[in-house]
Amino acid sequence: MAPEIETTLPEDAAARKAVTPVICYPVETLPRPDLAAYRVVREGWALVERVTVAPRDAACFTVPAGHFFRVCSVEGPQVGDLNLFNERDLNEHFYSGKTRALNGTHVGLGDQLFSSFPWLRPMATITHDTLDWYGFDEYGGSVHDVIGTRCDPYTHFLLSGGQNYHHCCHSNLTRALAQHARLPLAEAERHVHDVLNVFMCTGFTRDTGQYFMKASPVRPGDFLEFFAEINLLGCLSACPGGDCSTVHSSNAASCFPLEVEVYKPTRQPDGWKPSEASGYDRTHGTSSERTWSTRGTTAFG
Ligand SMILES: [Zn+2]
Repeated sequence: MAPEIETTLPEDAAARKAVTPVICYPVETLPRPDLAAYRVVREGWALVERVTVAPRDAACFTVPAGHFFRVCSVEGPQVGDLNLFNERDLNEHFYSGKTRALNGTHVGLGDQLFSSFPWLRPMATITHDTLDWYGFDEYGGSVHDVIGTRCDPYTHFLLSGGQNYHHCCHSNLTRALAQHARLPLAEAERHVHDVLNVFMCTGFTRDTGQYFMKASPVRPGDFLEFFAEINLLGCLSACPGGDCSTVHSSNAASCFPLEVEVYKPTRQPDGWKPSEASGYDRTHGTSSERTWSTRGTTAFG
């Protein structure tokens, strides 16, 4: 609940609030993939792996660079929490916040999922979305968000007066990653990160700005399809919230499995090569270039 306003309104308050917003990151300079070149190589592709994610559990899968993968709804409406890693270095993983800043609160066809610093490169490109028809609803809700984090036992403990629940997405991802990477549980947990909420329908309430969820419109047969820009390790949790229409962090909701399908195309897209790590030199102003200290002297002198 927002507190009462204590500060006297400035005389120009209305004018200040009426300033037109600008988009933080200009999309005109954001490199975009050649989606048509990606989509055409799906013809004649081969299904090379199918992984089933049990309800209230998670599973890992690998996708070589240049392959596709689909997160598929089967049996019933179900939300999935997706983590992505560089298959060869777990320190490089999906960066939900920057992906949000670049693409918006929800991702869809043609959007790219970026990795953490210092790599900041596309990890995957969305090449098909059977829920593209949903757009934004009257509540401001949409699907496939990068605004949530993942349901987790710590927040549940905080809000429930100290109860333990062990099948939140955070714990499911931790268990699956620990098993796949043969890591102790605590070490695997450090690598689990904010997710892409596949199929989840979410937004922010207009009056209070609170994060909301509502029943996912996903139905069996729907899928979200990605093209792997680098060698990927994926980890997907079938959220204990099911379609996230009511509650999560409990066994109350109806939950269904999810499936991941990995496809090998017959050839690579024209002009495509695996994405490269950011070319920023990482000196952070400590190099021989002295302009920063000159400015500092002026400011404080
Ligand atoms: Zn969850």
